[in-house]
Amino acid sequence: MSETQLFDRVAIIGCGLIGSSLARAMQRDGMAGEIRACVRSAESRAKIMELGIADSVHESPADTVEGADLVVLCAPVGANESIAQAMASALAPEVIVTDVGSVKQAVIRDVSPFLDSGMHFVPGHPIAGSEHSGPEAGFADLFDNRYCILTPPPGTDEAAVERVAALWRRCGARVELMDAKHHDKVLAITSHLPHLIAYTIVDTAANLEESERAEVIRYSAGGFRDFTRIAASDPVMWRDVFLNNRDAVLEMLQRFNEDISQLQRAIRWGEGDLLQSIFHKTCEIRRSVIEMGQAGTFDPREPGSQDGSQS
Ligand code: NAP
Repeated sequence: MSETQLFDRVAIIGCGLIGSSLARAMQRDGMAGEIRACVRSAESRAKIMELGIADSVHESPADTVEGADLVVLCAPVGANESIAQAMASALAPEVIVTDVGSVKQAVIRDVSPFLDSGMHFVPGHPIAGSEHSGPEAGFADLFDNRYCILTPPPGTDEAAVERVAALWRRCGARVELMDAKHHDKVLAITSHLPHLIAYTIVDTAANLEESERAEVIRYSAGGFRDFTRIAASDPVMWRDVFLNNRDAVLEMLQRFNEDISQLQRAIRWGEGDLLQSIFHKTCEIRRSVIEMGQAGTFDPREPGSQDGSQS
C-alpha cells in the first residue's frame, strides 16, 4: 500500500452526486488502490466509465463488494435494506461498511442485521450536496470544509471508526461523532424541514391560476427562486428521507406550525414589535452560520453559485 492509500479496494454502491464525488476525491488523493462502483441503470454504468470515476462498474452489489476492505452505501436510504441483503454473502470477513445517508437510525436498523460479528459498520453523513443528481453531477471538492457526521453505534471498533474518519478528513471534511437519534433530530430541523417547506411553497405556486403562476415565475428573484432550487432536489431521495425520519420531522413540523401561527397572529393584530424582534433573532442566526464558515457551497457547474442544498 502506498503512503497515501487508505484502502486496497473500495466498493461504492450507488454512484450519483455523493458517491461519484467521494470516488473523485479518493482518486484525487490516491486514497484507494481500486474503486468499484455499482449502479442500477446501464446508462449510469456507461456514464461512470466514460467519466473515468471508477476502475470498474457493476450491476450487482455482490459482484461489487467482492474482496473490498471498504464498502460505502451511497444510494437513497430506502434502498439500503435490499442492497445489504444482496451483498451480505459476498462481504469480506473484516470489511468496514459505511454510508452517506441523510438519516441515520434507519440505516442502522436496515443494514446491521446483514453484517457478521467480525464486520464493522460505521454510519456516516457528509453535510454537503446540491440539488443535482447522477454521476455527472459530482465533483471532488464537494466536501471541502463541510462537516461529516459519523454515528457509530456503541461498541463499534474504534480503529474502524478512525479509518472512516481519516477518509473524510482527506476528502476535506471536518469529522464529528454523534448519537444517531440526535443526528436525526438535528437534521430534521436544519435540512429536512427546510426542504419540506421549499417543496410546499413551490407546490402552492404550482397550484395557482395560470396567470398568477406566470407572474410568480417572472418575478421569482423576490425570494421564490431560492425555494425553487431546493425544491428541484431529487424526489426519490427526499421521499426516502421523510419516510425514514418520520418521528423527528413530524416533531419539528409541529413546532413550525405553532411558530407560523404566532407570526400569522402578529400580522393580523399589527404586532410590529413582535415581528421585528423575531426577525432580529433570525439575523443573528444567519451571522453565526457565516461565522462558522457554513454559509455557502461553491458548485463549479453553476457560475456565481453560493448556496447548496445540504442534506
Ligand atoms: P443520486 O445522485 O440520485 O444517486 C443515487 C445513486 O444510487 C445512483 O447511482 C443510482 O443508480 C443508485 N441507486 C438508486 N437506487 C438504487 C438501488 N436500489 N440499488 C443500487 N443503486 C441504486 O443521489 P445522491 O444525491 O448521491 O444521494 C445518495 C445518498 O446520499 C442518499 O442516501 C442521500 O440521503 C445522501 N445524501 C445526499 C445529499 C444531497 O444533497 N444530494 C447530501 C448528503 C447525503 P442509477 O443511476 O442507476 O439509478
